Amino acid sequence: MKEIRYRKAVRLALLVMLSLLLLIFTVACDPADTLAPGSSSDGGAASSSAPDIIDPTACEHNFGAWTVTEPGTCQKPGKEVRVCTLCLQREERDLIVPHTYVDGVCSVCHTACTHNFGEWTVQTPASCTAPGLSQHTCQDCGAVETQPIPQEPHNYKDGVCTVCGQKEPKGSAGLAYQKNDDNGSYTVTGIGACTDKDLVIPAEYNGLPVTGIAPLAFMGAPITSATLPASLTDYGLTPFLNCASLTKITLAEGTTALTSCWLLSGTAVKEFIIPETVKTIAGGFFYNSSVTTLRYAGSTSQWETISKEAHWAEPLSTSTVICANGSVSTKN
Ligand SMILES: [Zn+2]
Ligand SMILES: [Zn+2]
Ligand SMILES: [Zn+2]
Ligand SMILES: [Zn+2]
Repeated sequence: MKEIRYRKAVRLALLVMLSLLLLIFTVACDPADTLAPGSSSDGGAASSSAPDIIDPTACEHNFGAWTVTEPGTCQKPGKEVRVCTLCLQREERDLIVPHTYVDGVCSVCHTACTHNFGEWTVQTPASCTAPGLSQHTCQDCGAVETQPIPQEPHNYKDGVCTVCGQKEPKGSAGLAYQKNDDNGSYTVTGIGACTDKDLVIPAEYNGLPVTGIAPLAFMGAPITSATLPASLTDYGLTPFLNCASLTKITLAEGTTALTSCWLLSGTAVKEFIIPETVKTIAGGFFYNSSVTTLRYAGSTSQWETISKEAHWAEPLSTSTVICANGSVSTKN
């Protein structure tokens, strides 16, 4: 009797334990589906053939390649995903589709490129004989913009440029100068001890630029020609008054502003050439001149861009400006 009751008790206990185990197993399995951790450890019915699946929070992830799920367009990004081969976690991101630019306009959506230019790079370096060229390229559509690099100054040593061999232009010797208030430039004040008939005002004196001519500086001087440097910004008032034998005034290429009035007043200059580089002409520049032929070294379209003050051409006897590629009226 005692032994039978003992066996019954053991069976009951085993039954209860088995039921409990089954309950625990069911609870543990249910919420995590087949991806529950440790599901392969002891004969779990559903997972015997599935690979080992790791808890995503503990996974060190081994993502596969990105796969496009929505191709998208250049107007609306698409989508692409990748999946971890260990824990099956998914990652999603936008797929940016670039525009297809042809000459700066997208051939798909016709949007113009707003340009995203990179750094300027030197294509041709500047030298003392020619300006250089630099360019930058749009990193989106490939458009290229260029800009000039200013010409380098000559590197004169003993009167000769060490780079290109050009001789240093020598100004007339013996002219009178005065240092300007800025202490960094000179004004030529008169003929001084100079006996040249062909006056050449140098661009530099004592290593500083010559920027001005004093009013009436060369009044009555017996010169026949005058060459003026591009460094001048102030031509003084009637600097060549009563220079009856002065028939030629040459302004250096590089001159930008014909500023002061009456440069040619009282001279015998009949033909005057405005350098291509000039950007402004002051009113009354030709006052009391003898000019009958006016030339401009640039083109007619360049001439249009020059800023001319009112009355700049008065009282010229000619109403024509002869440009390199044709003539224009002084009224333009
Ligand atoms: Zn993972
Ligand atoms: Zn587009
Ligand atoms: Zn662009
Ligand atoms: Zn040079």
